[in-house]
Amino acid sequence: MRYTRAGQLVLSDSMMKIYQDCGTRFWFNYLENPEPELQPRLAAFEFGTVIHSMFYDFFKRRDPDLKMFQSAANFANVFRGRWFNIDNPAKTARGRSKAPILWRSPDEKERLLNLGYKICLDFYLRNIEIPLSHLLVEAYFMVNITNEQNGRGYALQGYIDRLELKNSHQPGSYQPEDLGKALRESRPLFQRQEEAGYLMIIDYKSGTKMVPPAALQLDTQFSCYDLAVELLYPAAPRQFAVENVRDGSLIPTTRGEGERRVLRERIFKIGRSIEKEQFPLASNMYKCQNCTFLQQCSSLQQLANRKGIHPEDLMRASSPVVRGQRKVPSLFEWKNGEITGVTDEQRLARAEKLRHKPTQMSFFFGQEEHEALADDSADMVHDTFIETVAGSEEWQPDGESSNNLGEWDQVQAS
Ligand code: SF4
Repeated sequence: MRYTRAGQLVLSDSMMKIYQDCGTRFWFNYLENPEPELQPRLAAFEFGTVIHSMFYDFFKRRDPDLKMFQSAANFANVFRGRWFNIDNPAKTARGRSKAPILWRSPDEKERLLNLGYKICLDFYLRNIEIPLSHLLVEAYFMVNITNEQNGRGYALQGYIDRLELKNSHQPGSYQPEDLGKALRESRPLFQRQEEAGYLMIIDYKSGTKMVPPAALQLDTQFSCYDLAVELLYPAAPRQFAVENVRDGSLIPTTRGEGERRVLRERIFKIGRSIEKEQFPLASNMYKCQNCTFLQQCSSLQQLANRKGIHPEDLMRASSPVVRGQRKVPSLFEWKNGEITGVTDEQRLARAEKLRHKPTQMSFFFGQEEHEALADDSADMVHDTFIETVAGSEEWQPDGESSNNLGEWDQVQAS
């Protein structure tokens, strides 16, 4: 987990989704992170990552003279090479072994190779005429949301797959250094309510099952994009859609002030629960059966049973959240998904004394919590929020996620 220099916890839509699904999974994923090399790599996820990287490179054109930009077939062949070598290198940049990819069938790699080749070929043909000046790709944003009344706040970060200026009179450029230029130059026009076109915010999906439009309407990811774009391009008209990269079709969706308000409440409720170190167990076989931490979770609960401690107290003791500080080392020794030892008996003894009351899934548990949250919600209706775009000087990278930060292109968000 990361904090801004001002001490605001940095959240993202996916972090909040994981937390809502299961607080313990959030704890495993973002705080404890046991044996990351054992975490299975899903073929579909790896495939989506390589496709995203192809689209990113297509528009970034770091080296515009490369052969890959000369024809659709050349571009698609680069995908072929990347996918072919998906299992290499076997180690991460930090020298840790990567888990092998879980292929669902012996021919899955080959099938995805052919599919990805076609996706890249079609993508090239669909997009080669689009001026680079009119779009941004993988646009990173971080916004601070602060309650003006009590000063409490959180930072929200994310990446927008594609942000495109449509129906604009700005001159188009195909020079890589002009990527996003027309967007930046349209900002004052939007603010002056002049005719400057509109923004199209796209999220790419590469899976077989497309999201039903009704479910898409509820997806908070687009609400996060909406909030960020509202701040980055004030008063710009905007549209949202998921693009099915398999055929280029779009599923439109809409966002507005109502969704932004729901998002703010969600950020504050989840952020507060995390800061209070509440990591409730889902304990729901439908959620647990597909959880990548099933074995680790079972081991944690067995230890909690043996010690007579609630699992949440064990979690707090292992990876305490210290505002603005890095976590202390894990309380547990992990081996092959099991807890094989305790690193600090004194910390364990302190956890035994804690004996917090057990909590259940959902942050609307127990009477006290319920009342506290009801008070918060009532307050929030009357509260006002200051929302600003965070500058890079506000970050306080904690090392674990600095890879992503390094990729942030200041030009894109400025
Ligand atoms: S196994 Fe179930 S309770 Fe444990 S982390 Fe996973 S989803 Fe949560």
